[in-house]
Amino acid sequence: ATAPYDDGNIFARILRAELPCRKVYEDDVALAFHDINPQAPVHILVIPKGRYVSWADFSAAASEAEIAGFVRAVGKVAADLGLVEPGYRLLANVGQHGHQEVPHLHVHLFAGRQFGAMLP
Ligand code: 5GP
Repeated sequence: ATAPYDDGNIFARILRAELPCRKVYEDDVALAFHDINPQAPVHILVIPKGRYVSWADFSAAASEAEIAGFVRAVGKVAADLGLVEPGYRLLANVGQHGHQEVPHLHVHLFAGRQFGAMLP
């Protein structure tokens, strides 16, 4: 593990229902909800329910079911929202250089407009 997990982070509080969110999908291992400050017409965050900060933490400590379920949740949200065509973009910020602001693993799903070539 990299940083210790902070149970006070905003996504932990959303998972405990201490803070509201605009939920789009939930199952045993994952939750998806609209970003509070959308950077595209569709901007959704998909998070595992487990206490992971980084992809390194997740890949080291999560069960096969959690890993499979998280990946499935990302794909299911894209499919359920009808985004597979004309497409969407996934992004994960990790750590300081990745500009990760919330220390709970998450994937951004952006859609609803034409994006440019490779970020950044
Ligand atoms: P990061 O920079 O960590 O990859 O992105 C964190 C994202 O979480 C940002 O896009 C930010 O707008 C979003 N965010 C921060 N606080 C909240 C919140 O309380 N609710 C929701 N739905 N999104 C949030």
